[in-house]
Amino acid sequence: MALLVQKYGGTSVGSVERIEAVAEKVAAHVKQGHRMVVVLSAMSGETNRLIAMAKQIQDPPDPRELDALVSTGEQVTIPLLCMALHKRGVKAKSYTGAQVRIVTDSAFNKARIQHIDHQNIMADLDQDTVVVVAGFQGVDEKGNITTLGRGGSDTTGVALAAALKADECQIFTDVDGVYTTDPRVCSKARRLDRITFEEMLEMASLGSKVLQIRSVEFAGKYNVPLRVLSSFADGPGTLITLEEEAHSMEQPVISGIAFTRDEAKLTIRGVPDVPGVASKVLCPVSDANIEVDVIVQNVSADGSTDITFTVQQGDMAKAAKILDQVARELGARQIVTDDKIAKVSVVGVGMRSHAGVASKMFQALARENINIQLITTSEIKISVVIEEKYLELAVRTLHDAFGLETR
Ligand code: ADP
Ligand code: ASP
Ligand code: MG
Repeated sequence: MALLVQKYGGTSVGSVERIEAVAEKVAAHVKQGHRMVVVLSAMSGETNRLIAMAKQIQDPPDPRELDALVSTGEQVTIPLLCMALHKRGVKAKSYTGAQVRIVTDSAFNKARIQHIDHQNIMADLDQDTVVVVAGFQGVDEKGNITTLGRGGSDTTGVALAAALKADECQIFTDVDGVYTTDPRVCSKARRLDRITFEEMLEMASLGSKVLQIRSVEFAGKYNVPLRVLSSFADGPGTLITLEEEAHSMEQPVISGIAFTRDEAKLTIRGVPDVPGVASKVLCPVSDANIEVDVIVQNVSADGSTDITFTVQQGDMAKAAKILDQVARELGARQIVTDDKIAKVSVVGVGMRSHAGVASKMFQALARENINIQLITTSEIKISVVIEEKYLELAVRTLHDAFGLETR
């Protein structure tokens, strides 16, 4: 008998039929004697629909009101699942984030969970009642509804599992685990039995949205056993775990390939090559709350320098405006922007003890005539920025080059 937290994503609760199927699964676990907490997303497409509706009226929408609006998606699915469980003779109660008291800070649209009052949930579990919680939402100290950022129901699941000291947090989705890369882009992608928290965190941060970044951070910090599974088919899924457990046998050098199309590149040409110039260019950008990712500086023969950096695509216009101002102040020659780029990354803790990963990556891309525009590395990842149209080819090429299909 275990205490399980199961989270079902948007496609898994995308229709009444799907909700009935989730109820079957949950009821079967109850029958086996497990105590169950279920976290649900909104039906697939619903959060996007609500955001689009808000934008028709106010763009950008007021952050507090947007959270009040988008949190309704998850309020629809939780009572429906409870009804489907009642129908099957299973006791179940739904809770919004505020009803549980999932207390967050007041950063609307990207709030962080501060603590969870779990007495109510425990009392229900002791009464053999399945507790069904709305994902993605919380409440701040003043009683405002908040949300946790896109994909935030994963974090609700992990945070509840940590608070309740659950035996496992199971994330049910439309793929049967974490793959070596997004199976929608590379048909040879292979399901991993295990992956480390550290690798999963890099994969999620570099664009693999199968888990929200914060949920992996949370699971790593509180050592929550976390598993990704399919709600459509049975199987072992992928366990996200500590390094010793994940790679107890032979350690692969590369565990996976992540990618994102959501980047744009800005270059400021011909600024003076003197101390302090990088801060003069980049500080106003970060002061405007724009996250800067890859940064490269090139010095020309004439003593001037070019600085190139990437930001999220949605921030490109704002960043370009700031650079225009900086360019005037520094007497720069030119500003160039490009949003037709993509970033592809290879990730693996095995890189720490293996040389030659970068050269293998660059050679493989060169063989396909894919030009690398920018490069950035850390201890367990190498990322390259390339022209967007080559993204799928690059992912497949690297998947082959590192033998990920067969390992
Ligand atoms: P949910 O609605 O259940 O939260 P998501 O769409 O957020 O589901 O996440 C599942 C999707 O993540 C998959 O359909 C898949 O296309 C994508 N994905 C990206 N990278 C990977 C990966 N490395 N392994 C598995 N799925 C991935
Ligand atoms: N419904 C929210 C979203 O689409 C949260 C989630 O599904 O995890 O981002
Ligand atoms: Mg998701």
